Amino acid sequence: MSDRLRGKRAFVTAAAVGIGRACAVAFAREGAEVFATDIDEGKLALLKNDGVPEVAKLDVRDSAAVDAMARRVGKIDILLNAAGFVHHGTVLECSDADWDFSFDLNVKSMHRTIRAFLPGMLEAGRGSIVNISSAAGVFKAAPNRYVYGATKAAVAALTRAVATDFITRGIRCNAICPGTIETPSMLNRAEAAGPGGRDMFVSRQPMGRLGTADEIGALAVYLASDESAFTTGVAHIIDGGWTL
Ligand code: NAD
Repeated sequence: MSDRLRGKRAFVTAAAVGIGRACAVAFAREGAEVFATDIDEGKLALLKNDGVPEVAKLDVRDSAAVDAMARRVGKIDILLNAAGFVHHGTVLECSDADWDFSFDLNVKSMHRTIRAFLPGMLEAGRGSIVNISSAAGVFKAAPNRYVYGATKAAVAALTRAVATDFITRGIRCNAICPGTIETPSMLNRAEAAGPGGRDMFVSRQPMGRLGTADEIGALAVYLASDESAFTTGVAHIIDGGWTL
């Protein structure tokens, strides 16, 4: 452990697996006190083996639950919003219900958590918010990622709006835009694509490999820490050159 986040309190959504989990563990490793949340209590409980003992069930689609959680946790210095769902299909396969679900989970969830935790950050005069967006939708259109791309572009816009509105009050808000990162849901998507699905994802990578959740965690630590104090409102791409 080193001390890049020593003395800071961090709150992470969708922290049971994948990118959210890697960010929670990386924050704890750098000395932060971390509150990790997810709807999957079983996998959340495993976080204590990796230095994150404070975990709680939280459905980020539930506004009242998010507000209650913010009251319970109190002031935080770092908010990491990781929850997101990948809808597969074009506009023709996207029902109204698909659209609403994706925007609720991928975008409105961040509206809920930021609205709930920002007042405490403003009182303290400091805070770093990090939203997980995607290279898809912000830097590149990916096939069959119609509503997913729209939600992730909205996350980048929401990020800039928060950064602009609170820039004079000690608040920074950045987005991370990963390319293809090896996580449980990404592997499920590869499997669903049929035999050789994972190889297909790897073949579009100029570096010849997928990214790791730990690599996203490392960027999140930088953005959460005071090392990035002059950086706000930016969509940070980390994609192994996929969009070059
Ligand atoms: P994942 O899909 O493997 O896991 C998502 C987690 O979210 C799970 O633990 C799940 O229980 C939790 N979750 C689902 N609904 C929830 C809800 N309503 N409330 C709280 N938690 C909920 O995660 P991942 O692949 O690491 O993706 C995390 C984020 O990164 C997402 O926003 C995703 O869009 C984004 N992203 C991922 C990739 C990738 O290649 N994996 C690339 C770009 C962006």
